[in-house]
Amino acid sequence: MPELKCTVQTCTHNQNNYCCLDRIVVGGNTAKQAEDTCCDSFEKRKGQSMSNSAKEASAYSSIDCKAKDCMYNKECECQAGKISVEGGDACRCQETACATFQKSI
Ligand code: SF4
Repeated sequence: MPELKCTVQTCTHNQNNYCCLDRIVVGGNTAKQAEDTCCDSFEKRKGQSMSNSAKEASAYSSIDCKAKDCMYNKECECQAGKISVEGGDACRCQETACATFQKSI
């Protein structure tokens, strides 16, 4: 299970750059570069409140990943030790990306 850092502060699941979900879905089944991926689990935060999750965010999450051309993807599970989801002030999931994506050779 990768360590997941996420900079998407506008997501309701984000807590201090960690994700409250135990499992996220990364999209981008035709992705050839990091920008073609996105976090499908993104949900826009409503209002100014902090995360609405009662759960503490943990550093680790399972990742169901559709970006099958990434070298870390094994049967749609991410095998990277650590990933970084980025997308600063994203309003929708298409504005987020897995910055750790590396095209397999
Ligand atoms: S590192 Fe690769 S396999 Fe892991 S979530 Fe990112 S795109 Fe998917």
